[in-house]
Amino acid sequence: MNHADILIIGGGAAGLMCASVAGQRGRSVVVLEGSNRIGKKILMSGGGRCNFTNLHTDASHFLSTNPHFCKSALSRYTQWDFLALVEKHGIAWHEKTLGQLFCNESSKDIVAMLLSECNDAGVQILTQCSDISVSTKGPFQVECNHGKFSCESLVIATGGLSIPKMGASDLGYRLARQFNVPLQEPRAGLVPLTFTGPTHDLCHRLSGVSTQVKVAVTATPGKDKVAVTSIRNRDKVTVTGIFVEDMLFTHRGLSGPAMLQVSSYWNPGDAIVVDLLPGVDAGE
Ligand SMILES: Cc1cc2nc3c(=O)[nH]c(=O)nc-3n(C[C@H](O)[C@H](O)[C@H](O)COP(=O)(O)OP(=O)(O)OC[C@H]3O[C@@H](n4cnc5c(N)ncnc54)[C@H](O)[C@@H]3O)c2cc1C
Repeated sequence: MNHADILIIGGGAAGLMCASVAGQRGRSVVVLEGSNRIGKKILMSGGGRCNFTNLHTDASHFLSTNPHFCKSALSRYTQWDFLALVEKHGIAWHEKTLGQLFCNESSKDIVAMLLSECNDAGVQILTQCSDISVSTKGPFQVECNHGKFSCESLVIATGGLSIPKMGASDLGYRLARQFNVPLQEPRAGLVPLTFTGPTHDLCHRLSGVSTQVKVAVTATPGKDKVAVTSIRNRDKVTVTGIFVEDMLFTHRGLSGPAMLQVSSYWNPGDAIVVDLLPGVDAGE
């Protein structure tokens, strides 16, 4: 039986950050990663250049049923702390738009940075771990194809359900159920929108066109479906998630930062209102 103070399941952005910080505090840390390499989603992030933080990050930009969690987390570790880490590793960066910071070269630099922090902290990383199961609580007993482990603290950093090809699995949700941790029903966020029927045909014809728009989600309480005409009557609807960013027509629907943002606020039955001339009076 191997023992670690802290065992982390998942070697993505969250797991590696957690591992390095815990290791630097003098704890013995083991990371169990399911795929053949760590940080695969980081590699594809930001179109290969990882949008690693935002100058305007604050708790109001996070959707959570517990907003105080984001406030306390961000007050203890800010975008400036992460930027200092990036600069410590000599990674060149630039600001794109709206405070978004990207690597000049490659997302690989961010993975290398996290790996180097983990190595310096003596973290042990095991890849291609399969059939992970967790039994008793405190100390936890964890078993996988690499053997048996016990640990004082167990961190589940297996990420979300999207892109199983990158290693995503539902292990985190299964373990939450096993240990009676309350769960929010998972739903898609930061995703492009796809349509059928006439809206699909319109988007298809315009695919490749992009423009800055103002976009918002409107919901009418108690109504399953919002009629397009009711959107004009602003006092009868709740407007959430207002963004002024670029929208892109695609072969299947709508994408671009504006639509990715607003997708996180949309629920079935809500309408999405797109102002194609933000700040411009079309009549004039
Ligand atoms: C195309 C794309 C572009 C993006 N661009 C950006 C960007 O520029 N900036 C940004 O901040 N965010 C970006 N994101 C989002 C960002 O990638 C994620 O928010 C982030 O990677 C989540 O980190 P995580 O550690 O929580 O989960 P993940 O990165 O998903 O890591 C989870 C890890 O757990 C492992 N795992 C899962 N199940 C098991 C199991 N059963 N056993 C063992 N291991 C398991 C997985 O293999 C994975 O390594 C992008 C996402 C995508 C898809």
